[in-house]
Amino acid sequence: MQDGFGRTIDYLRVSVTDKCNLRCIYCMPPGGVEWVPHREMLTFEELLRICASAAGLGISKVKVTGGEPLVRRGLTGFIRALKRTEGIGSVTLTTNALVLGDFLEELTGAGIDAVNVSLDTLNEDVFRYITRTDGFGKVMRSVNMVREAGIPLKINCVPMRGVNEDDIVPLAEFARHERTAVRFIELMPLGPGANMEAVSEAEIFELLRRAFGELRPFDGRLGNGPASYYSAAGFAGKIGFISAVSHGFCGACNRLRLTGAGLLRPCLASDAAVDMKAVLRGGGDEGAIAGALRTAAMLKPVRHDFHQTDGYNKRHGKKNMSGIGG
Ligand code: SAM
Ligand code: SF4
Repeated sequence: MQDGFGRTIDYLRVSVTDKCNLRCIYCMPPGGVEWVPHREMLTFEELLRICASAAGLGISKVKVTGGEPLVRRGLTGFIRALKRTEGIGSVTLTTNALVLGDFLEELTGAGIDAVNVSLDTLNEDVFRYITRTDGFGKVMRSVNMVREAGIPLKINCVPMRGVNEDDIVPLAEFARHERTAVRFIELMPLGPGANMEAVSEAEIFELLRRAFGELRPFDGRLGNGPASYYSAAGFAGKIGFISAVSHGFCGACNRLRLTGAGLLRPCLASDAAVDMKAVLRGGGDEGAIAGALRTAAMLKPVRHDFHQTDGYNKRHGKKNMSGIGG
């Protein structure tokens, strides 16, 4: 499927829940967000109908996200069904890893292709500050279990000024001995993150260069997304940067986002959405579902508007990443 600007759309991020077992300071307010009532959330059957239709239009990669996807009961059954859906080649999961260790065997059995773990620090106190939760030990246990199981792993860190800058180099060390990719995600001005300060890609690059020597651009393909990757001498894995604001990659955007409440979003920075729940619960057939997916693709803007400062916080500061799925 192509969008209005000739970009091929082959990647769908599916947020299966808006609930989460952490309260990261850049993602959620301390008390959490108002949850969408259960009946308003799409069932796994409804999500699968949309994914099957999307696969028919050329979506071959699905990322399961949230909220925290592993808090939704029955997730591994959903992943198994996705893996059996014709046309879907890759199914991956983005998780905070708090309970990942408990589900790893089931997930492997379901055929999960890779796991992305959000890990912003290796310091227990900083973890407690960022996530407003205890649980660092459980997260690290899960990360080690994924490594031991040999499941392809990416670690995602959002560097924040004055919060976890000291973790950048130690986190990058994960890529030294194993093929793990460690990616630094630029803080986006969404939700509480709109009022926090990002650490720039240039600054992170310089910190890493001082610690590990020259970083050479890696041209090979790694994953489905917009990260730019680098190799350091003696590193088995790669270091990546995902800098949506400062290094826009909209020209290569390949994705749609489906929220758990059934809104199909063409762009993280846009309020446009197609209400898939209305299509499904209004009795829409496969043709109607495919039509709605095509409409969402055509609604993709040429680029995000994160750079416009006018009314910026007003537009994006109220959005919650946990509902959209990152
Ligand atoms: N709970 C899961 C997790 O944390 O991996 C999946 C959902 S979470 C919303 C997906 C990703 O969005 C995480 O890697 C998180 O760090 C990132 N994220 C949340 N708010 C962000 C913001 N304002 N800027 C950049 N990334 C953000
Ligand atoms: Fe939860 Fe992920 Fe948001 Fe943290 S980033 S609060 S783990 S949804």
